[in-house]
Amino acid sequence: MINHNLKIYNTLTRTTEKFEPIHIGHVGMYVCGPTVYNNAHLGNARTFVSFDVVFRYLQHLGYKVRYVRNITDAGHLENDADEGEDKISKKAKLEQLEPMEIVQRYTIDFHHVMESFNALPPSIEPTATGHIIEQIEMTKQIMANGFAYESNGTIYFDVEKYAKDNNYTALTGRNLDDLLNGTRELGGQFDKRGRLDFALWIKAKPEHIMRWPSPWGEGFPGWHLECSAMSKKYLGNHFDIHGGGMDLAPTHHTNEIAQNVACNHIKNPINYWMHTNMLTVNGQKMSKSLGNSFLPFELFSGSHNLLEKAYSPMTVRFFMLQAHYRSTLDFSNEALQAAEKGFARLMNAMKLLDDLKSSTSSTSDISELKTKVYAAMDDDFNTPITLAHLFEGVRIINSVNDGKESITEGDKSELVKLMSSMVFDVLGLKEENAVNTDKIDGLMNMILDVRTDAKSRKDFSTSDLIRDKLKEIGFEIKDGKEGTSYTIN
Ligand code: AMP
Ligand code: ZN
Repeated sequence: MINHNLKIYNTLTRTTEKFEPIHIGHVGMYVCGPTVYNNAHLGNARTFVSFDVVFRYLQHLGYKVRYVRNITDAGHLENDADEGEDKISKKAKLEQLEPMEIVQRYTIDFHHVMESFNALPPSIEPTATGHIIEQIEMTKQIMANGFAYESNGTIYFDVEKYAKDNNYTALTGRNLDDLLNGTRELGGQFDKRGRLDFALWIKAKPEHIMRWPSPWGEGFPGWHLECSAMSKKYLGNHFDIHGGGMDLAPTHHTNEIAQNVACNHIKNPINYWMHTNMLTVNGQKMSKSLGNSFLPFELFSGSHNLLEKAYSPMTVRFFMLQAHYRSTLDFSNEALQAAEKGFARLMNAMKLLDDLKSSTSSTSDISELKTKVYAAMDDDFNTPITLAHLFEGVRIINSVNDGKESITEGDKSELVKLMSSMVFDVLGLKEENAVNTDKIDGLMNMILDVRTDAKSRKDFSTSDLIRDKLKEIGFEIKDGKEGTSYTIN
């Protein structure tokens, strides 16, 4: 039995609730993944890093978590109202590539970005194109249950019929009449009956490249359907957590719930709905279409005009953790520079931790610190408060190291356990120099080999030049009996 007090803010009930899994010891979590038609920007990364922390903390608490995060590789039209071209097809035409070449390129990019942020891969990463049969079956079932109709080869979900017995806007709490009044009149190009009806299956126009045979002719699935079909397949009709960015709640997630209820005869298919807030730039949502987005790799190399310098992946992850996932996070160079300093201070303390000298008494209460840290994470994954408490740990480490405070052997081992499990396992931060040190070492050994070779050929001007140049940039070379070694000044 897992003993904890985890509480999660549930968008559906608009309250913070105690987390009770459906099956003891297990958690099923679905998060809407990226649409792989361009490079993931930093805003997208924020959402996925937030759910990485959720995944990590649930595992840390002892749950066996099945984390499903899809790849949208078909069906996501330019406009949420079933209009426009498929985003992937459009890009494929533009670049004169196969849609699957676009999908492959940006899926690899997305994985690369997530890996650089030290995000764990999900347990299952299903694709929309890999689940066409499941989506056709689901469409058939929703039709058989009377909640969808065919119109010229396209299948629409009948929102009005659904809303008679179900609360269609439960997730956002909006008023259905206001929503209807706020939606445009149907134009001539639509065959749907109601303004809020949405497509489950869309008839492919002759020029549409991504198409599959179906009982209704050649077509492709609507975007909302894929998440209902894949979550049903891997997590069942009733599961614990569904997540995504908060911009997905009004349409995509609202329609997902309607599909699940209409297909599976279940009133409340998902127990906890979690939504992340947006990464903003000068208060505006970061988005490709607004032209204010930048890519993680532009951040790591500093190659964007909004950036004063380059920032390392862990600095950026730390920056993201400094805001709660339900608050907006505004990008600024000042905030990133502060995060860089904070992260360095945390890592320096982590390096001192193992070698702290223990004494006969402790000046700090480590078990109280532990209680505070867990209480913060249990409070809807409150990472900024967690970090604030971990910095109390940093203060203790530095004071003991300076001889100003003392710690017993028992408390020290508690502190080591708490700090390393929270910093590395739960918050997913890692020492960056560890990787760099290996690379620098390899590079230096190569240079020293070249120098040894020059010396053996009595080319002393080259060997001295290498030594002097290295000294200029801070590498001191020492020739000894065992060979040549170096130190970094
Ligand atoms: P997309 O690839 O556009 O389907 O988006 C993938 C995920 O990123 C979705 O969950 C979006 O809600 C989320 N997202 C998009 N823009 C931002 C942003 N500026 N900040 C945080 N999350 C975002
Ligand atoms: Zn989705």
